[in-house]
Amino acid sequence: MRPVERGNCPQDTAGNRIPFAQYRDARDHLIDRIGDYCSYCEVCLHSSIHVEHVRPKQPQPALERAWTNFLLACEEDHRADGAGSGPRASALQPARSALEEKVGRMGRGTSRA
Ligand SMILES: [Zn+2]
Repeated sequence: MRPVERGNCPQDTAGNRIPFAQYRDARDHLIDRIGDYCSYCEVCLHSSIHVEHVRPKQPQPALERAWTNFLLACEEDHRADGAGSGPRASALQPARSALEEKVGRMGRGTSRA
């Protein structure tokens, strides 16, 4: 599984966090950071990729434009999530999977030694 590392919120040249007037404005920044792949199924997409909300926008409207709540998703996974209206099952949390992959590599390393 590809690690999904979105990193800290992008900054402007003065070092200020870039505010997103609309969550869709984060799309190009997300593609720069994690590539144009769906964060859930890893399909490579070049045009039909959506900004996905990891946690639902409602009842916490602040999550709608929060960098830490963004990932990228293909049309199918975006729709499967109700277009950001519901929480994903923990088994499909790619950020968690990246950590698990690191832990898995550490485990494989020790078994070979
Ligand atoms: Zn997908």
